[in-house]
Amino acid sequence: MNSTPSNERQCDQGQNPTAKAVYGDCPPWEICNTWPCRHTPCQDVDWLASLEEGSLYPEFHRKAWWYFQYPSLLEGVPSEEAEKYRATFDRCQRLLDKTESIRDEIRVNRLRMRREWGVPLPDLEYLKTLDIDALKKELAEKITFLFKSDEKLQKMRRYRRALAGTGS
Ligand SMILES: [Zn+2]
Repeated sequence: MNSTPSNERQCDQGQNPTAKAVYGDCPPWEICNTWPCRHTPCQDVDWLASLEEGSLYPEFHRKAWWYFQYPSLLEGVPSEEAEKYRATFDRCQRLLDKTESIRDEIRVNRLRMRREWGVPLPDLEYLKTLDIDALKKELAEKITFLFKSDEKLQKMRRYRRALAGTGS
């Protein structure tokens, strides 16, 4: 398996059977012929390129992020190879800048798919109606009850042991 991208081939988007085979975002009952497809959790071009690179050239991908964070490490790398890593730096930076919006897009898409598949969603409206302070109080009462029950149990055990003449 290649560990570095060739010069000719950029990590492209659009129809790509290799990445498709690797990622398979589609549920078994609805396989798409394209990648990315409506099941791909994020359509951001940089995110997709990064995902594909990580799949096709995992070692290169890991090092690229490493060199992006610590560019001085590239000093010992032959210039032609170093150039390939440097070529990923703009994308790495854009991905960092977009971290939040990408996370949001993935969350929204996953929820949409769960809805489509009939998988129960967290009921946000119900959660909003809960009174957190009341819940805390209720929990504290339960914990107190458990401690008291345990105390009673321990007392009962001590009493039994005392009756049996083996009390401590
Ligand atoms: Zn699909």
